[in-house]
Amino acid sequence: MELELSQIFPCPHCRMDTPHYVMARRSERVGIACSQCHTVSLVRQNELEQHQAWWEDELRHILSSFDQNNKEEDHD
Ligand SMILES: [Zn+2]
Repeated sequence: MELELSQIFPCPHCRMDTPHYVMARRSERVGIACSQCHTVSLVRQNELEQHQAWWEDELRHILSSFDQNNKEEDHD
């Protein structure tokens, strides 16, 4: 499952949203590691899901506006 491999989460070290690998799960806590700097963060499962949902929504907006721009510029 792709979501298990990389969760987008704000890394305290990188100070930006980076893909995180899920390392461990215990009840509602998830241990994730930044794929850029390998900083490990312990977050709540629902916090992670909320951020992931927010991120996917943002991505959809970005992709759809990108798609629209492409259509507008494509005159052929
Ligand atoms: Zn990082």
